[in-house]
Amino acid sequence: MEDCVFCKIVKGEIPSKKVYEDDEVLAFYDINPIAKVHVLVIPKVHIQSLQDLKEDHKELLFHLFETINKVAEIVGVDKTGFRVISNVGEDAGQAVKHLHFHILGGEKLPTR
Ligand code: 5GP
Ligand code: ZN
Repeated sequence: MEDCVFCKIVKGEIPSKKVYEDDEVLAFYDINPIAKVHVLVIPKVHIQSLQDLKEDHKELLFHLFETINKVAEIVGVDKTGFRVISNVGEDAGQAVKHLHFHILGGEKLPTR
């Protein structure tokens, strides 16, 4: 989508520090980390949020979660644990309207 920051990152119009990439997905470091390790995993195709998933996205969704596990290994939090968050809509504070999963870790995370 034209004015979407993450679509621009996918197209390389905005630079990012990539952790993993393939034809379907991209993982890159969050520009404003809230934990020692903070990576975002996104589908390359523009989907607004988890609420916009369709039957067609089944394989993609599984692949996103495979990628989350792969990224956890790459950045070294697979043994120590990590948190996965996807904000949906206003009350969750979803700032970027392109589906993304935050991977947080590298330290003890607050429980609330
Ligand atoms: P949300 O609040 O929508 O769940 O999270 C959006 C996340 O995207 C935020 O953590 C924010 O720091 C990150 N972000 C926004 N713009 C950019 C950018 O241009 N590059 C990177 N690497 N992260 C971004
Ligand atoms: Zn987008």
